[in-house]
Amino acid sequence: MTIKKNYIAGEWVEGCGTSHNINPADTSDVIAEYATADAEQTKAAIAAARGAFPSWSLSGIQLRSELLDRIGQLILERKQALGELLAREEGKSLPEAIGEVGRAGQIFKYFSGEVLQLRGEIQPSVRPGLEASVTREALGVIGLITPWNFPIAIPAWKIAPALAYGNCVVFKPAELVPGSAHALAEIIAEAGVPAGVFNLIMGPGRVVGDTLVNDARVDGISFTGSVNTGRNIAAAAVGRMAKVQLEMGGKNPLVVLDDADLDTAVECAINGAFFSTGQRCTASSRLIVTEGIHDRFIEAMIDRLKTLKVGNPLDAGTHIGPVVDERQLRQNLEYVEIAKTEGGNLVFGGGRLQLETDGFFQQPALFINTTPEMRINREEVFGPVASVIRARDYAHALELANDTEFGLSAGIVTQSLKYATHFKRHAQAGMVMVNVPTAGVDYHVPFGGRKGSSYGAREQGSYAREFYTTVKTAYTLA
Ligand code: NDP
Repeated sequence: MTIKKNYIAGEWVEGCGTSHNINPADTSDVIAEYATADAEQTKAAIAAARGAFPSWSLSGIQLRSELLDRIGQLILERKQALGELLAREEGKSLPEAIGEVGRAGQIFKYFSGEVLQLRGEIQPSVRPGLEASVTREALGVIGLITPWNFPIAIPAWKIAPALAYGNCVVFKPAELVPGSAHALAEIIAEAGVPAGVFNLIMGPGRVVGDTLVNDARVDGISFTGSVNTGRNIAAAAVGRMAKVQLEMGGKNPLVVLDDADLDTAVECAINGAFFSTGQRCTASSRLIVTEGIHDRFIEAMIDRLKTLKVGNPLDAGTHIGPVVDERQLRQNLEYVEIAKTEGGNLVFGGGRLQLETDGFFQQPALFINTTPEMRINREEVFGPVASVIRARDYAHALELANDTEFGLSAGIVTQSLKYATHFKRHAQAGMVMVNVPTAGVDYHVPFGGRKGSSYGAREQGSYAREFYTTVKTAYTLA
């Protein structure tokens, strides 16, 4: 089996070790072997990025715009093959995987245009005869650390703005999903990125990620992943005064009010809680349902859950693919047990499934009669597990929705303009959804949360420039 290499200073280079990329739907399917880097190789990539920065940061926006457009185009042309690779290594269903690849392509296309929109300001000075100008410049070398659950979209929404605004990149994908990252790096190289401007370093977070976070030559770290890792990264980065941006977990509520359209409520809950195997930071893991619709909603949810097929992501008709690996599946099953022990009533699924191939399959789980203090309602499971909390009325539902240390996404299903408007204003979340699932966002508007979910500037859309540029104020004596 050929080994897929790291990309440093415009060259494909062997690593210091290798890791196997295993299909979570069929553990006998080894997708490929990937190089892993050590600290020295990571430092070589940082040096390459540092060396490329002076000329790349001053390169014209036309050149950068065209590069991003070519990358986006190549991704879109190879959507099917990239989607199959993604589904095989991460486990989401093929339509979801192709959708994610399409989104990655659109993100590059978007930033190809967005970079042309960069503008500054000229202001008169309060001191006579002086003029002040405010412009934005590239931040420098950026370390990008990404999770396994969106192996191409999350890297795309960090790499595209970083390159667009003239930064150089050292990209470290999650070890579980090097395939999509490597394929993306191949496309970026093929599109003609200058040597050193973009570098791919695969390998474990505690080695490669840690080196990136602690190297003084890295000016900014953009991280998506778990809360614990994020906190440690922030402490280290702030300790050496590097800019840092974190997107972390969620315990996202979906409120269902008495006046909701039942079909809409069920579709929002099913999609939000269980699609992509529940492995989304924006997943609706807490379903907060008012008294008048509660029993009808549960009945309809169970009927709908019975229609979902868990299986191989590449099979037509599969709605829910496997959990990403054995460790994550064990954790999901542990949470199912914890919820039962704490008094939750499991009304559907939850168990491990043995299918034709040896994979990490789990039946989606639905709990009812849960209370806000239970661990199932406080900690992120990151799997196909949702719990229902009964609410007396809208006011109680809102209180429950905000009763969490997280604040990424919050949804409501209602036909009342009054409650929808109030919820949009008072939900303590970075993103609010009315009559649509808590997961699923556009690529041209800001993405991010409040409270324990996010830290630093927002990602995506024009707001991405806050992180990837630094502001300069200049005075001229006229
Ligand atoms: P982790 O935090 O374990 O990993 C995220 C990334 O950080 C990986 O690339 C990992 O490398 C790397 N990493 C691990 N340890 C270190 C370290 N000491 N220093 C630097 N980098 C390190 O999360 P997962 O990838 O397991 O993703 C699941 C979690 O991420 C969930 O809790 C989920 O909520 C959250 N998440 C949040 C999102 C958001 O946008 N808010 C989106 C997606 C996920 P490696 O794994 O290779 O060792």
